[in-house]
Amino acid sequence: MLFELRTCGTCGACCKTHFVHELDKPGGQWCKYRLPGRGCQIYGHHPRACKTFRCQWLLGRGEVEERPDRTHLVLDFIGGEKLGEPLFLIWEVKRGMLRSPLAREAEVDVFDQGIVVCRMPLAKQPTLIVPPGRQPEKIIEAFKSVGINVNVCYRTA
Ligand code: SF4
Ligand code: SF4
Repeated sequence: MLFELRTCGTCGACCKTHFVHELDKPGGQWCKYRLPGRGCQIYGHHPRACKTFRCQWLLGRGEVEERPDRTHLVLDFIGGEKLGEPLFLIWEVKRGMLRSPLAREAEVDVFDQGIVVCRMPLAKQPTLIVPPGRQPEKIIEAFKSVGINVNVCYRTA
């Protein structure tokens, strides 16, 4: 079987979506070290959080052509060890993309597996979608600890 090794290349979408505490960088805004067409200006000395982050696309989810800078969505998974429940985050790179078919498909797919989903819009509060039987309290607390209140939507199906 052929295995294609994926690399970030010129993507950089997570340099906009993600919080980087070491840099006091808020989510949803381009990092000051990211220059258009020139990548990370402190590459090699960039924070550990940046060095270790792997989005779901990089790990093999979805089609090759669905790189986050093209879909304008960053899909992200955090295991349940820290937060009590596994958490799948869908980060919008461009406003409105959470309403795209790709975002909706990912949300339904993950929800159907019984995993808590978090919609991360650019300019609004995040929303947790909680499947039956899941306990999102630690996730809610984790957001609060970084000054973010989340909407919580408990779904039956
Ligand atoms: S969003 Fe994914 S593919 Fe794009 S730079 Fe970040 S880790 Fe790499
Ligand atoms: S430090 Fe570099 S890798 Fe990290 S968010 Fe900024 S531009 Fe991206």
